[in-house]
Amino acid sequence: MGEPACNCRDAVDFVSRLPCTRILKNSSLYQTEPAGERDQPWFINGVVEIRTGLGPENLLDQLLDIESRMGRVRDRRWGPRVIDLDILAYGREIVRTERLVIPHPELHNRRFVLVPMLEIAPFWVHPVYGISVRGLLDRLEDDLKVFRLDTGDYCPTGVPQ
Ligand code: AMP
Repeated sequence: MGEPACNCRDAVDFVSRLPCTRILKNSSLYQTEPAGERDQPWFINGVVEIRTGLGPENLLDQLLDIESRMGRVRDRRWGPRVIDLDILAYGREIVRTERLVIPHPELHNRRFVLVPMLEIAPFWVHPVYGISVRGLLDRLEDDLKVFRLDTGDYCPTGVPQ
């Protein structure tokens, strides 16, 4: 909701100011066709790579705090929102607790995640499947469209067509 690209940049700025944390890489922003409820504006998505001394649970708490400081109200699960911050991966660690699943359980099914990941972490290997980002994209069945926001390029495979 609001100005989604600005919201994403603001969120990255909040993340960069977390304790013991710095941003290593930023992907471009992408305009992405909504999954779930189709009758809503397209989303803006991006990924960042950070180096952090925060453990996964502590990082999650900090991200939830940024979401609420940015005014996110949790209502419709798949509906419009100000911002949604997810931990996609934490190195090659596997985490499965009641409140946290890492790698994110939908990461390998979503073009809008894998295309920006390919830009900054093409060699990251999914620790459960043992497959790289490139390999996950090659196997992907998600048809939802992904365009780079700055160039308008259509990026079904991560490479502008
Ligand atoms: P949502 O805002 O719909 O993405 O859901 C956020 C909730 O998902 C959080 O409160 C977490 O407890 C839970 N969750 C589980 N795994 C993850 C993850 N890898 N990243 C972020 N949230 C997660």
